[in-house]
Amino acid sequence: MEKQETRQLIETVMDKLANRADFLGIEDDEKRRKVSASAKEILKTTDKIIKSYIRVSTDGKGVIRIPAYRVQHNNISGFYKGGIRFSENVNEDEVENLAILMTLKNSLHRLPFGGAKGGVHVDSRNFSERELNLISRKYVQRFARDLGPNHDIPAPDLGTNERVIDWMVGEYKTIKQGEAYLGSFTGKSVENGGAKGRREATGKGIFLSYSWLIDQWLRLQKNDQQINRQKQWQTLINLTQKKESISVSVQGFGNVGSVATLEAVKYQKIAHKVVAVSDQFTTLYHEDGINIERLITYTNKGHDLPSNDEELKKAGIKASVRLANDVLTIETDVLILAAIEDVIHKENMEDVKAKVVIEGANAPITEEADHYFEEQGTIVIPDILANAGGVIVSYLEWKQSRVTELFSEEEIIADMSEKMIETFKIVYDMYFSSVDETMRFNCFTLSLERLSSLLYRHGKL
Ligand code: GLU
Repeated sequence: MEKQETRQLIETVMDKLANRADFLGIEDDEKRRKVSASAKEILKTTDKIIKSYIRVSTDGKGVIRIPAYRVQHNNISGFYKGGIRFSENVNEDEVENLAILMTLKNSLHRLPFGGAKGGVHVDSRNFSERELNLISRKYVQRFARDLGPNHDIPAPDLGTNERVIDWMVGEYKTIKQGEAYLGSFTGKSVENGGAKGRREATGKGIFLSYSWLIDQWLRLQKNDQQINRQKQWQTLINLTQKKESISVSVQGFGNVGSVATLEAVKYQKIAHKVVAVSDQFTTLYHEDGINIERLITYTNKGHDLPSNDEELKKAGIKASVRLANDVLTIETDVLILAAIEDVIHKENMEDVKAKVVIEGANAPITEEADHYFEEQGTIVIPDILANAGGVIVSYLEWKQSRVTELFSEEEIIADMSEKMIETFKIVYDMYFSSVDETMRFNCFTLSLERLSSLLYRHGKL
């Protein structure tokens, strides 16, 4: 989903809310519409966009100048919060769209944070350790005045990790001598005040968004429950009644995709096998399932996915090698999208065979494809619902830095799961009882309703 599509969806949802008599508790129709029009204006627009250039002296190419961004969409529900990505796709529009999605995600899961995002236009793979360290520290030098534990709190995202965040914290500490610094970034290494389990949190949450639906939520349904989503309902029934294992495919085998598929094969209640795994160069396929533990051991050594017989042998993996994009259209029950934006669109949506598509990445499906899947009875679990595990654990990490207490990994994962399940329950009930709206529309509605109500209570409308 691109920025224009996200904005358009916000408008549509807000217009619908404005006509709902119970919205904001304002009975007078005209007053309510006026107030919600103001809320719409605020929610559609962005508070602050900061663009800067980082200059680094590289090992081979002399001094280069790299565009870098921090976008603060809004802080209605709390301090600005969102990751920083290092990627060659980074541009102002992309970062702004991701910042808007952070606002919606944080509000949907009732976190005390607003939305922000950062980006640096680099492909980390093309830079040495020394260069990446310089880029990370220069980023903080450029943006430090707009960051802080009570203002804007970055975290890792695509192309960044705890090492990058540790460097950034180190630089922040130097710049802000004497001020609190541990709560200024989340996603730090555990040794540096990070939360245990933060690295796995997003992947675990993604699998939970689906496993809880096909197991617990389905069981909670009483016979008298109004189910209006007959096709999607049937999809769930068919899946759970399958005799053989449920097949899973994943696009992207980084932090998110690898953990989500590991959760799938470890899941005790219903058997799953991972039939396809991809990275930006290759898809590996095996109809009986790929050994995920072994594959993770191999990729953890810094390798890309094995892409020829020799590498497959070295990794101890039985699979055939296909083109990177094949993962999207392979025969599978569940497809996890854990790579980048806009990978399923008008041109390839009809070739997707999965019956459940989970958005592990932010914005991987276009609006048009979302509607197409809806008509087909394919269940799409949207990004802001499914991939919030990371930012929820970020919240716990931030809290940890305030109370100077260390939570155990069990506590962290239990808190995260509880928080996510609270939201799943509301969204899944809403989705299956509504008629023609996508699950994304339902999520946007809940999120925007909360943000509007805060704006109204704060007297901003
Ligand atoms: N980058 C992650 C996301 O897109 C985590 C953000 C955070 O922890 O602040 O949700």
